[in-house]
Amino acid sequence: MRFADLAEAYERLEATPKRLEMRAILVELIRPLRPPELPRVLYLSQGMLRPEYEGVELGVADSLARRAVAAATGAEEAAVARRTKETGDLGSTTGELLGQVRRLEEKEPLTVASVYAELTRVAEAKGEGSQETKVRILTDLLVRAAPLEGKYLVRFVLGTLRVGVREMTILDALAVAFGDGSKATRTRIEAAFNLSSDLGLVAGVLVEHGVDGLASVGLEVGRPIRPMLAEREKNLAAVLERMGGRCALEYKYDGLRVQAHIPRHGPVRLFSRRLEEISAQFPELVTELPEAVRDAPAIVEGECVPVDLDTGDIQPFQEVSRRRGRKHDLAKAQEEIPVCLFAFDVLLAGGEPVYERPFPERRARLERLVRPTERVKLAVQRVVSDEESATRFFEEAIAAGGEGVMAKSLEPGSAYRAGARGYWWIKYKREYTVGLSDSIDGAVVGAFQGRGRRAGRYGAFLLAVYDPGRDRFESFCKVGSGFDDAALAEMPRRLAKFATEERPASVDTELTPDRWMRPGLVLEVRGAELTLSPIHRAALGRVRAGAGLALRFPRFTGRVRDDKSATEATTSAELLKMYRSQVRQETRSEADGEAGAP
Ligand code: ATP
Repeated sequence: MRFADLAEAYERLEATPKRLEMRAILVELIRPLRPPELPRVLYLSQGMLRPEYEGVELGVADSLARRAVAAATGAEEAAVARRTKETGDLGSTTGELLGQVRRLEEKEPLTVASVYAELTRVAEAKGEGSQETKVRILTDLLVRAAPLEGKYLVRFVLGTLRVGVREMTILDALAVAFGDGSKATRTRIEAAFNLSSDLGLVAGVLVEHGVDGLASVGLEVGRPIRPMLAEREKNLAAVLERMGGRCALEYKYDGLRVQAHIPRHGPVRLFSRRLEEISAQFPELVTELPEAVRDAPAIVEGECVPVDLDTGDIQPFQEVSRRRGRKHDLAKAQEEIPVCLFAFDVLLAGGEPVYERPFPERRARLERLVRPTERVKLAVQRVVSDEESATRFFEEAIAAGGEGVMAKSLEPGSAYRAGARGYWWIKYKREYTVGLSDSIDGAVVGAFQGRGRRAGRYGAFLLAVYDPGRDRFESFCKVGSGFDDAALAEMPRRLAKFATEERPASVDTELTPDRWMRPGLVLEVRGAELTLSPIHRAALGRVRAGAGLALRFPRFTGRVRDDKSATEATTSAELLKMYRSQVRQETRSEADGEAGAP
């Protein structure tokens, strides 16, 4: 396939916000393809070279790309920078500049295969001299590129592809292009993706072995599974009712979710909630897991929390987040902030996949599998069938340093549902305020300059929830409280790579911050209540025409959600649900008051 055809498809994808139209463009694009080209086109279209969990990065900064653009077009670097300030996008600038270059001879057209191979070389260039190598490869590619190709090449290497193709749309397209397009087919394709976290692999199997062939895509040690997610309920009575009167309750540990892959031989690998490999951050778990888990190969899920090893007490989560991204002082961090893994599920035991078994069977298996050690333990669990015992267990969990409880269904259908959120698991956290019992994860889409003591640096941030249907980030609050000096001082560094001159097309808000941010960093906030607002755009018009949802008295909890990408922020639909349950509670208590007032 010619790379020009791909760039052309990107141009059309970018021009439409409609999911159906995007699907049609994708179907047309991928239908003629076969492996290895098909998986490559799918990875490229999502701005990646390999499935996300492999963590392959190009390592190309703006300045480096600018150098390559200048070299390939003969423009001055400063001129490239100036023009980019105006266009807001180095990709568009590249397209323009390439359009002005006079070609003396016909060049051989770029193909997807050659572009993919060269970009892989860019990613592989590491260490001394690698910057020069990267610039050289990029320059060579750009010299051969037509304007449209150059635009998307540059956007790809900068991680700003913006064609808006999400996994869900690709799954839709696969079902139409290589199956009968039915819901059943779509479900089977998605199931294979949830187990393998690799769209390229799934597409390859689908083309070569058909929909039935997807049954062969199973669990593999070393390849993360998309996590099962929980719904929420407003109180324990509602939790019990949902669960049919009986369920297992577990402590809800407040830490980092960890999926541990323990092979029979070789090193243990740990993956985060968003499937990044985090083995290097927790070497003590990597060493201790083979000792604690009796029957490898196994895949176990748990929550990693900081503990005081002398007392066994759980410590506040902020401690463990300080260990993220630390490379140099790991040994020191290990000593200062020891962590413990509380295992709560098992997906593979003794090489046998058990994720489809009902939860009680998995828990029994987990109890046989894990021999608790200093750093690997089982999540505390109790089966309850009345509100009073549930409340007692909840209080116990809070007293032990948990943030609430996780309720789990004991029904025959309680299989591990990879990648799905449902009422098989229900989270119930401690209520901080009457109205709003849960925290909200908001994507930073802008920053405001501080005043007074915060003068000269960012003092507040504009946060947004995500609407997957529209693929938009909708603002719901401006938050400045809850940041201590250290947290505030860190923000410019954390946000630097997302800063942009103009409002990103995916951001919806009536506010104008001092600095726009591409959605990338996620902050956890709490607030007093959700209200209707003319300025914020979350769930716009869903409650009342022209009004969005806003969080009153927002406060940063101190927790940066490094384990979530922007599209994993709280969704507009979730916010709306929180708003509605809050309204229901209020109406109920008013009604109670009327009926029961003496
Ligand atoms: P979500 O993962 O549902 O999108 P989130 O990441 O904001 O939301 P929470 O709302 O706090 O997390 O609750 C879900 C998380 O709780 C799980 O992803 C897991 O990391 C954690 N957790 C802690 N204890 C348990 C447990 N016993 N069983 C399952 N999950 C647990």
